[in-house]
Amino acid sequence: MSQIPTYVTAVPNGTEKGLYMAVDLGGTNFRVCSIHLNGDTTFNLTFIKVPIPKELMVAQSSQELFAFLAKQIEIFLKTHHEQHFEAHVRRRLTISSPDGYKDENVFRLGFTFSFPVRQVGINKGTLIRWTKGFDIPDAVGKDVCALLQDEIDKLHLPVKVAALVNDTVGTLMARSYTSPGKTGTVLGAIFGTGTNGAYVEKLANIKKPMTGDYDKSTGDMVINTEWGSFDNQLNVLPNTTWDIELDKASVNPGIQMYEKRVSGMFLGEIVRLVLQDMLKNPSISLFKDENSSHNDWRSTTSIAQQSGVYQQWGLDTSIMSVAAADNTPELSTLRQELESVLHIYSPALEDAQAFKAIAGAVGRRAARLSAVAIAAVVLQTGKMTDPSSEGEPIDIGVDGSLVEHYPYFRDMIYETLRAIDGIGEEGAKRIRIGIAKDGSGVGAALIALVAAGMEKTKDTADYLGELRLSAKRNDLTAVPEDSEATAD
Ligand code: ADP
Ligand code: MG
Repeated sequence: MSQIPTYVTAVPNGTEKGLYMAVDLGGTNFRVCSIHLNGDTTFNLTFIKVPIPKELMVAQSSQELFAFLAKQIEIFLKTHHEQHFEAHVRRRLTISSPDGYKDENVFRLGFTFSFPVRQVGINKGTLIRWTKGFDIPDAVGKDVCALLQDEIDKLHLPVKVAALVNDTVGTLMARSYTSPGKTGTVLGAIFGTGTNGAYVEKLANIKKPMTGDYDKSTGDMVINTEWGSFDNQLNVLPNTTWDIELDKASVNPGIQMYEKRVSGMFLGEIVRLVLQDMLKNPSISLFKDENSSHNDWRSTTSIAQQSGVYQQWGLDTSIMSVAAADNTPELSTLRQELESVLHIYSPALEDAQAFKAIAGAVGRRAARLSAVAIAAVVLQTGKMTDPSSEGEPIDIGVDGSLVEHYPYFRDMIYETLRAIDGIGEEGAKRIRIGIAKDGSGVGAALIALVAAGMEKTKDTADYLGELRLSAKRNDLTAVPEDSEATAD
């Protein structure tokens, strides 16, 4: 696994304040938001969300994608921060020298970028590789913050890309800001289009050489595991003919093998491949008239030619949630969904039952594998056996449509945690898994806050660091606090 140091050395405690912007490039949607952190573990958030056009995921040049992102930021500012935006334009037009105006009116923006990045500074990082179906070769190796800032500048927007944030780190920060109680969050995990986790590791355990500055005083650093690529060699992961088929037809065969068994982008496709095999098999009567003729509803079951069942990625994971949620004897909601979404007309009860069983198996396997990653991190923190944290909750923040919307996903994770050596019934009770609502926005804002603080104290940073160190050496108790950093 990549195990990428993030240079984030502490998690927030809920007292952070200020107005920030955040954008989130996930695998499916692009979100733009502004966040007001109130400093009392609460926040106010305004956002827009747009689907990323499929053609931009495989655009000829990265400029096309980033120009689209900047355009959405402009639309957001015009819609939700009109005054701020207009004032900026006025200032720009009336000021002769380009650096003559104060950049205090410039929004600090946290950029949540949910792809593997080699981070070299708080707002600087180069793309290692694309995942989740994206493929724009010229972006690999480039600084994604610079790519976004260039397009923002072309539109003259009052926005500075202040921080680069992995969605897992954002989730960890957001959950820690809002989570109840004194204990900081130990893991932020994503189960959305893709899957990944970031956790708090002891600096002493990090053997990788680290360049760049970071605060060593906490003794911790957040590590982005990139666990989606766990066991690409398939030493321990389950592997079915459908997993093999899915991987072969993907844009990145042989990598992200754990992710391909766990996350939203892939689960529907696994189900689809199973269905496809069953439909080809003459001895299996799935979605065939034989069932429906002695069944209720209309008499003929048919699958439209344009049905997603026949197309790669044609079966969205969300229908698996419908299947899992429908526990009525007639499965009428699921049968309606099969009609309206997959164009499978008049499915019989038995067809719907078969679909539910297959989707349930794929979903449950995903949840059980998810629990393995969570358990591994919990065991690594040592909190299960550390007497000083005995009885304390072990807090975990999660985000992503799969964990948020798939019914019983968290219950199935808990069921698995109880069965894992070193965790068990008692251990599972201590693990508190909570959705980090709006995690990516709040998390990015929190890291933009850290970054803005670093900008403001650039001249004094070393001085303050020195002061803190000497205070520690002399065992003084009165240590000057950093001035509170706000963007408004
Ligand atoms: P992103 O990964 O872009 O941040 P999300 O967290 O919303 O976005 O995850 C999107 C993924 O979740 C897609 O792969 C989609 O198929 C899947 N998904 C969306 N809605 C549901 C649902 N109701 N149940 C299960 N999976 C879903
Ligand atoms: Mg996301």
